[in-house]
Amino acid sequence: MAKKQDVLDRDKIKKIQKIERIILAKKDMYPVEEFLSKKKSGDILDVVVKTILSQNTSDNLRDIAFENLKRRFKDMREILHADEAEVVELIRVCGLPRVKLKRIKSAIEKITQRFENPEELCKLAKDSAFSFLTSIDGIGPKSAEVILAFGCGFDTFPVDTHVSRIIRRLGIADGSREKIYHLVSPHFKNKILSHVFLIHHGRKICKARNPLCNLCVFKRYCDYYTRRQR
Ligand code: SF4
Repeated sequence: MAKKQDVLDRDKIKKIQKIERIILAKKDMYPVEEFLSKKKSGDILDVVVKTILSQNTSDNLRDIAFENLKRRFKDMREILHADEAEVVELIRVCGLPRVKLKRIKSAIEKITQRFENPEELCKLAKDSAFSFLTSIDGIGPKSAEVILAFGCGFDTFPVDTHVSRIIRRLGIADGSREKIYHLVSPHFKNKILSHVFLIHHGRKICKARNPLCNLCVFKRYCDYYTRRQR
């Protein structure tokens, strides 16, 4: 049986529903549709590699590292037989190059061992694809959800640093990103749309330092904002 702290109470679930209604009503505040149009835009191995490169770095540095790889390798499978020192230099810009290279190779190896055509991963049921991806070293729930959304077109709710900060401040859930993901993800109906909206919102309004609460569409329901008003 699930422990009490492992499930959300009714009030928290209702708060998610209110937040999601606001997201749907205000989605044009941010380029959500444009972002979503890139969904399932690439080769699955490209998405896997890009997702691993994006760990603990900015989008900008991840993109530079990924473009360096794309200029050198047409197919990401070539990385398995490439000179490691060369690949490390190509991705050094996004940090932890040796760790990321190890994760990239392990992911490509596992995917290509199981599927002759890596795109077949997307033919699995979402839960099976998620279990398979999270069994790979260095791919946690957030990375798996990103890969399933942008590599396969599944509707998922990755919990990154922006999403987790907003969820905590709203008073919906606390703890690690992984815990927040397990608690919150099942209750969002429009998962990837909500994820993309919250990422933009975290960058522009609910910033880590000095959130712009007076401009925030969620302030009515936000515990952090309420505390600051006292
Ligand atoms: S009211 Fe402030 S703290 Fe709350 S979600 Fe909005 S910006 Fe973040």
